[in-house]
Amino acid sequence: MILVTGGAGFIGSNFVLDWLSQSDETVINLDALTYAGNRENLSSLIGDNRHIFVQGDIGDSVLVAALLAKHQPRAIINFAAESHVDRSILGPEDFIQTNIVGTFHLLEAVRGYWANLQGDAKQQFRFLHVSTDEVYGSLTKDEPAFTETHRYEPNSPYSASKAASDHLVRSYHHTFGLPVLTTNCSNNYGPYHFPEKLIPLMIVNALAGKPLPIYGDGQQIRDWLYVKDHCSAICRVLEAGVVGEVYNVGGWNEKPNIEIVHTLCDLLDELRPRDEGKSYREQIITVVDRPGHDRRYAIDASKIERELGWKPSETFETGIRKTVDWYLVNQPWVANVQSGEYRAWVEKNYNER
Ligand code: NAD
Repeated sequence: MILVTGGAGFIGSNFVLDWLSQSDETVINLDALTYAGNRENLSSLIGDNRHIFVQGDIGDSVLVAALLAKHQPRAIINFAAESHVDRSILGPEDFIQTNIVGTFHLLEAVRGYWANLQGDAKQQFRFLHVSTDEVYGSLTKDEPAFTETHRYEPNSPYSASKAASDHLVRSYHHTFGLPVLTTNCSNNYGPYHFPEKLIPLMIVNALAGKPLPIYGDGQQIRDWLYVKDHCSAICRVLEAGVVGEVYNVGGWNEKPNIEIVHTLCDLLDELRPRDEGKSYREQIITVVDRPGHDRRYAIDASKIERELGWKPSETFETGIRKTVDWYLVNQPWVANVQSGEYRAWVEKNYNER
């Protein structure tokens, strides 16, 4: 049995679905169901008793301790977080609360549980913390990609809160001996991605005939990884990673944002042509850049490749095509998430620009 936190979000739900497609080991899924949590992502698991969903907060250590005592998981994979940089600029408090205070309470509950395990169960237990390359800060065009020993230099409240959580996780290993693993991954894309993030936002807006807002000059560079490759990396680290180690995960796919949007427009032109032979590129507009916007992130994934034999199975070209296909086929999913709080937030933050 494993415990996954944040398993109704984008990466967490892909992880739970992939896990249960390859294994019969039960997953307890603890998720607070914030605006980003969507049980519809897991609808194919309704009636599947290998999936136990619990709505709750990682910061509720009484709840977490009770779940651990009842289900005795052999591992915990911590995806739960506030994850959107723009939201962290508009309101950092939730990020401090979940990513820092929540992770602290989770670690405390896990420490108590692990201390009472015996023998093989204690030896084999793992706490895997899922984090981001954004903790390393911003690179210039010519600097080498982030390795695991790169200094921490977070620049947004989001990345600062994730950096703090990484440090807490590290300290629980060094101080208390908790068997932790940390992964720092680049930008993910793929199915079930909430349409406030660049790739799904562009697909959804393009299809709705809305503007495609590009921050500043669009030359911000990110490394992109198909979400299922991130999930396979996490499985590999869980299986074979060395306790206390950090593994960078990335796709060797550095691309400027404007190129991503051009690729999406070109794919949509091919798969869902606009009337009168017009291109979706005509919908691109420029908006004022995000404050403190990092210019470049790049991941050096050679450690996980060399030491654990992991490699991504999708190239950017194959993964992005699968993603666009998924959004075209899953329009009802998109319509359902574009309601309520989500709609109000997007109206306020994107459509007014
Ligand atoms: P997401 O925002 O889509 O999902 C987060 C999930 O956590 C949601 O289901 C939400 O309901 C849940 N959650 C939030 N606060 C919670 C709390 N206090 N208790 C329990 N559940 C809570 O995020 P994502 O994109 O799936 O990212 C998952 C993790 O991966 C995050 O830790 C993020 O920092 C990290 N990460 C994301 C990316 C990316 O490109 N999306 C890249 C690298 C790392």
